[in-house]
Amino acid sequence: MFSKSMVELGQKRSTIREIFEYGKKRAAEIGAENLFDFSIGNPSVPAPDSVRGAVLHILDTEGPVNSHSYTSAQGDYNVRAALADSLNRRFDTAFAADNLYLTMGAAAALSACFKALAEPGDEFIAIAPFFPEYRCFVEHGAGAKLVVIDADTKHFQIDFDKLSAAVNPHTKAVIINSPNNPSGTVYSEETIKTLSSLLEEKSRQYNHPIFIISDEPYRELVYDGIQIPFITKYYRNTFVCYSYSKSLSLPGERIGYIVVPSELENAKTAYAAVCGAGRSLGYVNAPSLFQRVAAICADQTSDISIYERNRNLLYHGLSDLGFSCVKPQGAFYIFPRSLEPDAAAFCERAKKYDLLLVPGDDFGCPGHVRISYCVPTRRIERAMDLFAKLAAEYQ
Ligand code: PLP
Repeated sequence: MFSKSMVELGQKRSTIREIFEYGKKRAAEIGAENLFDFSIGNPSVPAPDSVRGAVLHILDTEGPVNSHSYTSAQGDYNVRAALADSLNRRFDTAFAADNLYLTMGAAAALSACFKALAEPGDEFIAIAPFFPEYRCFVEHGAGAKLVVIDADTKHFQIDFDKLSAAVNPHTKAVIINSPNNPSGTVYSEETIKTLSSLLEEKSRQYNHPIFIISDEPYRELVYDGIQIPFITKYYRNTFVCYSYSKSLSLPGERIGYIVVPSELENAKTAYAAVCGAGRSLGYVNAPSLFQRVAAICADQTSDISIYERNRNLLYHGLSDLGFSCVKPQGAFYIFPRSLEPDAAAFCERAKKYDLLLVPGDDFGCPGHVRISYCVPTRRIERAMDLFAKLAAEYQ
């Protein structure tokens, strides 16, 4: 009577959500301040004041009808123009309004790209560790196959031998996510250049473009003053999926976009396919009020320095306790090796101390645990004793 796969999907929560729900119950028992919930990537730093200012300004100037009305399916023209200008100013690109399609965050941007591209038999490649929802969007949303490349656990860059071996005539696109959830690493310029030449060569070999889908909700969350390579400048057949969930701390408002660069092969048709995908998925248009907020606040971010401080505390604290971690350069996650081979068993043990961590298995990277450090800094300071007790169990 119902779609079997949808029932299964609806009944089985993701591991992260499962832990998050456990956390809510546990917080009710012991008090939220005594729970060290590092499970979910919900920004802890408030949205900048300019967001509130923008909401009030829009409501005052546009009035209660226009502020909430439908917009063009691809998003309001002036908003798209403003977001394109912001990208051009910051990344020296040359996008126009018609290169952008506004979405309900990165999740909808990715889903629309997968749907726009997928033809029967197509494969999309994810590089571990990867955001687990890719599987759901690719397989259940777009009806294609997700192929996973094992992680380069030494640096969390890309194992190019494995990637090269996995690309085949059915490969439609490679999904990249830098800064990365869950490792926090940023792909170096060298990685991006090598990836671009590999995909150019494979595209020639198989006589069709192999696209990059660049999932970048953490693009502005980078530390140590590093510059992030803007992918479309290295590889023309790139779709950029962006979101304001993290950079402006607006995850519940569901606002983001896709960039379809003019240089992309058959760009106009690709843009039409994205619009068609959005239509078929019933997206209608991205939230109207927050489209305009994004246009006003596009050059800003929440106070990223708080995440950097949290990163430093955790990276140094955990390393001193003997955890092996690659130093994250972005996002708000750190992904140390588990102190026992079975990361799920390790996370169960951590629960004894009310430390909620997520095993790396769902990210395609067993033997590691994800710690989300978008929490108050004081919580991390207090958690270090508990991490010490947990580590002591393994000595
Ligand atoms: N991609 C990655 C890597 C993420 O971590 C997330 C959310 O945590 C998303 C996409 C979806 O983000 P959004 O809230 O913009 O849909």
